[in-house]
Amino acid sequence: MSKQLTPETPMVKQYLEIKQQHQDKILFFRLGDFYEMFFEDAKLVSGELELTLTGRGKDENRIPMCGIPYHALDSYLPRLINKGYKVAICEQTEDPALAKGLTKREVVRIVTPGTILESNMLTDKQSNYLMAVAKDKDKYGIALVEASTGDFKVTEVNSKAQLLDEISRFNPSEILLPEELKEEVSIHLTAFHPDSVKKSEEKLLAHFKVSSLASFGCQELDLAKIAASGAIDYLKETQKTALDHISRIKTYFLGDFMIFDNTTRRNLEINKTIRDNSFKGSLLWVLDQTKTSMGGRLLREWLNQPLLNLVKIKERQEAVAELANDLILREELKSFLKDIYDIERLTVKVANASANARDLVALKESLAILPELSSALGPTASALLVNVRKTISGTSSFQKILAMIDQALVPEPPLQIKEGGMIKRGHNAELDEIWNVSHGGKEWLIELENKEKARAGMKNLKVGYNRVFGYYIEVSASNLSLVPENYIRKQTLTNGERFITPELKEKETLLLNASERLVNLEYELFSALRKDVALHTLELQQLAQSIALLDVLLSLANNAVENNYVCPEIFPAEDHVLMIRDGRHPVIEKTLRNVSFTPNDNSMDQENERLIVLTGPNMSGKSTYMRQTALILLLAQIGSFVPCREAQLSIVDRIFTRVGAMDDIFAGQSTFMVEMTETANILNNATKNSFIILDELGRGTSTFDGMSLAWAVAEYIHLRIGAKTIFATHYHELVQLAGQYKGIKNYNVAVEEKNGKITFLHRVLPGGADKSYGIHVAELAGLPTELLGRAREILAGMESQQAEVMGDRQLKLF
Ligand code: ATP
Repeated sequence: MSKQLTPETPMVKQYLEIKQQHQDKILFFRLGDFYEMFFEDAKLVSGELELTLTGRGKDENRIPMCGIPYHALDSYLPRLINKGYKVAICEQTEDPALAKGLTKREVVRIVTPGTILESNMLTDKQSNYLMAVAKDKDKYGIALVEASTGDFKVTEVNSKAQLLDEISRFNPSEILLPEELKEEVSIHLTAFHPDSVKKSEEKLLAHFKVSSLASFGCQELDLAKIAASGAIDYLKETQKTALDHISRIKTYFLGDFMIFDNTTRRNLEINKTIRDNSFKGSLLWVLDQTKTSMGGRLLREWLNQPLLNLVKIKERQEAVAELANDLILREELKSFLKDIYDIERLTVKVANASANARDLVALKESLAILPELSSALGPTASALLVNVRKTISGTSSFQKILAMIDQALVPEPPLQIKEGGMIKRGHNAELDEIWNVSHGGKEWLIELENKEKARAGMKNLKVGYNRVFGYYIEVSASNLSLVPENYIRKQTLTNGERFITPELKEKETLLLNASERLVNLEYELFSALRKDVALHTLELQQLAQSIALLDVLLSLANNAVENNYVCPEIFPAEDHVLMIRDGRHPVIEKTLRNVSFTPNDNSMDQENERLIVLTGPNMSGKSTYMRQTALILLLAQIGSFVPCREAQLSIVDRIFTRVGAMDDIFAGQSTFMVEMTETANILNNATKNSFIILDELGRGTSTFDGMSLAWAVAEYIHLRIGAKTIFATHYHELVQLAGQYKGIKNYNVAVEEKNGKITFLHRVLPGGADKSYGIHVAELAGLPTELLGRAREILAGMESQQAEVMGDRQLKLF
């Protein structure tokens, strides 16, 4: 540290001692009504937040500083956290008025991107995960914790690719990562120094107060335990609380869910669009009709992890069907759910003692809806809805909590919890008594004013109060001669004087004491109430999950009815059924203007139609058709209805996509390299139970290279892997594959050609296209006529040569 920064005052010394412990964070140092930053932190923050950089001290000893008012913390903090900084919040931990010497200060919380609790920094319908990763050779342990809801999951995976898939699935905002993995990911990273398995296990047993981790299902998963313990340690270090709301670990296995990698997630535009990363235009945008934030988060989770278990899928379908068939029930449930607040996050705030009185009232108002919600669900019969109803009505705790809050808090309490005004009269006898004194005081003052006016004959005498001088009797200049003897002068004004009397002084002490006592007692009573509610954390968390589940099922049902979806019939993977009648693309059908979507059938199986070669001009609808098939499979496996007239679908273990439009996203790798890397990933990981869509494979290289590769890839998938595949291509030469292999079929997207002009029909028909119509599309796009004529000439010449060359290639390849 330079000479300039040498501590001179005890306060600077205190600052430096605390900063020493938090070198990688920005230290918000509480000084009265401000959080101040000093030295490098001040320079950094003044730049980032556009604050004025000031200083303390003179010349070379001047310490740079900047500050924000304490009440503006909520608006400044998110800006730093969003930029990836970590902030240590250091408070005065004793009343400065009572402190002997320097006021004690302590870091009470560290705010980092993955450990945020503040609602204004979180997105309502999105989980904010902290991930911890432990590694041993090729194996990884993963722990995921959502600090604001208490959700805590662990798993183990067997390759780096799988780790990256999980990162893409959960999109954590901060990762605790061992040093050696740093290069792999580009999310906010925090160094992680893993404990031994033994130590990790001991810590977890102590935190969860259990004698074995077997009931959480992770007893045998050593790396998952290390990651989990690391995550808990980090949360404890940042939150500085006991984390009672993190009360269980959910162990999940990759084999429980359909896998789709990051590329596929983006290609299918599940959470956001490829073009501009917007929510509008994504699958979730169409699907999300949830009424609560909890439901919104759960729907996103479902959509990113479709199920593989037939029984579980059917269980969801049954509930969705029951709701879809009952308009009145749906309307009732909608109206109840829209008034339910985020019980999940409110519960955590209560458990962490960060909830204010408004949060408790929000919780109360949500709980008040449960009896009606439960009776609306009364006649339902599907297993999931019956379970939801049981949770909602099964325990008397919820009505007890409601009564507790209702008895104690006024219906519209203030935001601040240290300024009184929260507790109802009649809740606490002592509080009522003090309230009477302070309230009675006002009447007493009015009486005093009247009494004094009469006594001294001063009509415009006023009794008043201000924060600096306290209570006073104000007499105007014209009446000063009438002032009685026992008036003691307090303050001189331009037009008069202010006085106090012994009687008023005595009352003043009483009143000021009463209002201070009132505020303190209210705070004590509020804190006690919050603690009592916190005793029910686990039940409230379970309640939140049930409501989220109901909300998601209802959203799926509403969507099914409004958008005309049907319930697909689901079959085991081994049956290899894929039959869609009049299938539609769930997003494109919603975004088309002035035209209606043309539905298309799809019928694939293991024997006769396993691989489809799909040809047709640009813009005809090939991508749409392929993606809609993938999306219908995905929707079916989350338990949703699907956009078509009828569907029979076998479960698929993975969906793979290789789509041209992604190329620009990858920086640093050539288009063709990306294309081949993605293709290699598909070929190495697909199974016969997977579903693959390949769009224009081989376009990134010369025509003959590309065509040969496309041909060979199609063959490899068909012969070696056996996955159901739609292969869209402009190489219409590939239609010959169908003649060579049973199980490969040609389809094309029809266009109508009249007088050299083409019209897109968007209809998928059996048979291959014999030409590409690229020049027609160029014409539609407005290329010069002369150029188009020349292109037609060149094409004709090349087509005659190509036929000969392809003959040769086929001999070499096969
Ligand atoms: P390219 O080869 O250039 O990628 P493509 O054949 O894959 O083109 P798509 O991107 O699927 O074409 O479709 C182009 C546009 O055609 C879509 O954005 C949509 O507006 C419209 N379209 C596609 N399919 C249909 C359909 N079934 N019904 C109505 N409109 C459709």
